[in-house]
Amino acid sequence: MQKLQCDVVVVGAGPGGSMAAKYAAEGGLSVLLLEKKAEIGAPLRCAEGVSKKWLKEMGIEPDPKWISADMDGAIIVSPSGHRFKLDESHAGNEVGYVLERHLFDKALAEMAAVAGATIMMRTSCTGVIKEDGKLVGVYANRMGEPLEIRAKCVVAADGFESQVSRWAGLDTSIDLKDMDSCLQYRMANIDVEPNYCEFVLGSAAPGGYLWIFPKGNGRANVGIGVQGTKCKRGADAKYYLDKFVNEDPRLKDGQILEIVAGGVSTCPGLDDTVLDNFLAVGDAARLIDPITGGGIAHACQSGMYAGQVLVDCAKEGDFSKAALQVYDTMWRDSMEDKLVRNWIAKEKFATLDDKILDDVVLAINDSDIKEVNVYNLLKVIKDKYPDLMSEMEDLF
Ligand SMILES: Cc1cc2nc3c(=O)[nH]c(=O)nc-3n(C[C@H](O)[C@H](O)[C@H](O)COP(=O)(O)OP(=O)(O)OC[C@H]3O[C@@H](n4cnc5c(N)ncnc54)[C@H](O)[C@@H]3O)c2cc1C
Repeated sequence: MQKLQCDVVVVGAGPGGSMAAKYAAEGGLSVLLLEKKAEIGAPLRCAEGVSKKWLKEMGIEPDPKWISADMDGAIIVSPSGHRFKLDESHAGNEVGYVLERHLFDKALAEMAAVAGATIMMRTSCTGVIKEDGKLVGVYANRMGEPLEIRAKCVVAADGFESQVSRWAGLDTSIDLKDMDSCLQYRMANIDVEPNYCEFVLGSAAPGGYLWIFPKGNGRANVGIGVQGTKCKRGADAKYYLDKFVNEDPRLKDGQILEIVAGGVSTCPGLDDTVLDNFLAVGDAARLIDPITGGGIAHACQSGMYAGQVLVDCAKEGDFSKAALQVYDTMWRDSMEDKLVRNWIAKEKFATLDDKILDDVVLAINDSDIKEVNVYNLLKVIKDKYPDLMSEMEDLF
């Protein structure tokens, strides 16, 4: 078995892993970034929406190479078809650009490479190495060749289905109600508004929503997320998405170019994201927005924090849980409040029937609300249906 040694081994070259690798390598650490697939960013498992504001905050310079379409805003569609249009600055974290994720992810991995990280493709992490209970690295398999990689710290960036976090010892269990089952068709020859991301609410997507994210030239990502507990035999994500596609006249001549299936977590992050010599970032730490299902921004941000903290830990020669806790605190300070609030609000939204959702969208239309965010939505519901919100006073 080939034996390798490094300061940090990062498992998974998605946005979270690449950002962690980039920042750790920039700080002078030796970094191995393992990716099990043959191509970074493919196959696609994303609707590819991100806000411009967030890219700026991350210091990621927009590049036309990985931008598929530039959005002017979003349209919220009520169950009976009322449409509420809002401009891009008020449309939330998943509206701004629709990306070419396979190119975006490669661009981030390239940044990690330029910073000095070594990228190992078709290299699947198969387990963690523990000695006397201490995590000292990972086992991997590179195109049939077994590897033993020793590292001072292991970073789990292996996405929603993360095994590395569980192998390391974190409790990654999740309730079915805190998962959405997603299906998406990349469609061509359709007739949708080219510069607006569309979100369709209500029983057409139980516990979740349908989306149309345009990609220019009559193409769009048309997808759905359905709450895990609401998926039934014969009424799953495919059933609801096909119904929507068949019934919307704008999509009737469309052809499917690509099918994307995957899960997103809709809970507020893992209770622990660090252990001795270990941390988890992005989807592996369940840092997805429970309302929107968006996780690119959180993956990048947590990856960046992780890389920065690893550099500090290396200076002190201390990768203990106590030292890595700084990372856990950083991501919690920046996003935990919102994750928890949206998690509670998601529960509430999932109980609203179509009539109430129609009323809410109409009320937003009539109100002076400029920004559709969770707080404003809940406030509208509270004004119209005070009884419904009585148990949610804390959120206000
Ligand atoms: C249908 C769908 C639509 C979505 N739409 C949006 C959206 O519009 N906007 C948004 O912000 N978010 C969206 N998301 C969520 C978003 O895709 C994720 O939050 C984001 O990709 C998380 O990045 P990550 O780096 O944590 O994980 P990932 O991007 O999942 O990367 C994990 C990487 O680890 C690799 N890996 C896994 N196991 C191993 C192993 N054992 N060894 C080596 N490599 C391994 C994988 O191959 C993968 O490359 C969507 C998700 C789904 C499923």
